[in-house]
Amino acid sequence: MRKAKILATLGPASNTQEKIEMMIESGISAVRINMSHGTHEEHTAAIANARAAAAKLKRALSILVDLSGPKIRTRTLKDKLPVELKVGELFTITTREIEGNQSEVSTNFDHLPEVVEQGTRILIDDGAIELGVVSKTETDVLCRVLVGGWLKERKGINLPNVRLPIPSMTEKDHADLIWAMGQNVDYIALSFVRQAEDCRQVKDLIKKMNPRTMGRALLVAKIEMAEAIENLDEIIAETDGVMVARGDLGVETSVELVPVYQKRIIEKAVANDKFVITATQMLQSMIESPSPTRAEASDVANAVWDGSDAVMLSAETASGNYPVEAIRTMARIIDAAETVKPAQLRKPVKFSQPPSGRTSQALCKAAAYAAKEVLTEKVAVFTESGLMARRLSTIRSGLQTFGLTSSRDACNQLALIWGVEPYMHESGGTTNDMLREGEKTLVKSGVVSPGETIIMMAGRLSGLGLSSSVIVWTIGEDIPKR
Ligand code: PEP
Repeated sequence: MRKAKILATLGPASNTQEKIEMMIESGISAVRINMSHGTHEEHTAAIANARAAAAKLKRALSILVDLSGPKIRTRTLKDKLPVELKVGELFTITTREIEGNQSEVSTNFDHLPEVVEQGTRILIDDGAIELGVVSKTETDVLCRVLVGGWLKERKGINLPNVRLPIPSMTEKDHADLIWAMGQNVDYIALSFVRQAEDCRQVKDLIKKMNPRTMGRALLVAKIEMAEAIENLDEIIAETDGVMVARGDLGVETSVELVPVYQKRIIEKAVANDKFVITATQMLQSMIESPSPTRAEASDVANAVWDGSDAVMLSAETASGNYPVEAIRTMARIIDAAETVKPAQLRKPVKFSQPPSGRTSQALCKAAAYAAKEVLTEKVAVFTESGLMARRLSTIRSGLQTFGLTSSRDACNQLALIWGVEPYMHESGGTTNDMLREGEKTLVKSGVVSPGETIIMMAGRLSGLGLSSSVIVWTIGEDIPKR
């Protein structure tokens, strides 16, 4: 069973039920809806298709909605035609609403003239085009083209090292968040997070918008700004998980720092019991080619070895020519990578220094010790919200982990989490009833066999006898050994 999960972005190349079924069968366990493109109607249909596909195949599937955040962009071009910006020429970015042409283009960022000064670098289209500011007026920023290229419509603008006077959530993000809560999605990703406060605000909003479920959607802070790297510890403390958003990160910092930050972000996230997704350009050449480059294969494997919960495909599955092949390729690379077990994926279980004081740590580590002692590689965890299975994942013990839950939502949410195989399971009854039911679910799914000894454990389960326990359990035997 694959431990690192695959998250695929849906788009025109992949958002039908039929395509999503093929993608699930090829190895994805999560889909991403990118709010930078498309309409609510299109995304609603894509989510319905994803849920129908997962239901038909009887598989858990996480749905992640990625809010665009305050992405600065260029606006339209005359007749939608790309224009060529040549090195040394002058080019203006303006807050006036015009149709762009060879010499000027509008931006959606009204504060641009305020925040730049002579010499500021302006990067367009993930840094493919680079401009240097020459002068400015109240509305216009006159630039010299430093690195030329073809400018298409609505391309991203990055202003490395410029502190932006804008909130982390735009009006569009608010509207998108309300829509996403109505869709009962599993994860909300927030773009261009700069500080922990950005995460607090969104978590509060999620809770307020969905009081019935106490805002069950988990927050993913996208780490893509130099400021977020500076505030990484505080952001990780505040969020549920993070994304190494390498596209913007490489432009906002610099390309050679991406691997350095990738390792730092993953290590800190896992050490603090948070999940982590590594994203962008993982199999970029497969947008147009049926096979990846050797460097891309190594990149995916290294992201797995670094300890990512999930690796993400963007344009490869959203708009590429080979979405299903990209997933099959990624799955094969992960499978091969997981035959090698580097230290970070099979950590010796250690006491926390200083002791964490947390019951969840005590239970998860006790389960890992017990497994070692009775020579089993398998642990089943009874979990209502999915939290205990997530905690067990972050100790990266290398055990095959079955998350047993009676909540369809928790089951779907766990599909993204490293090493957890989620199963729906009837809750309730006495401790023995629960263990028997859990055993039945696992035997029926073919993941354990009669006579096999495994570990069963549970976090705090309200009103149930099995709460906060670790049990050595032999499948098919009656009396559990506590
Ligand atoms: C990224 O920048 O790497 C990223 C994942 O964000 P987006 O695809 O929204 O630009």
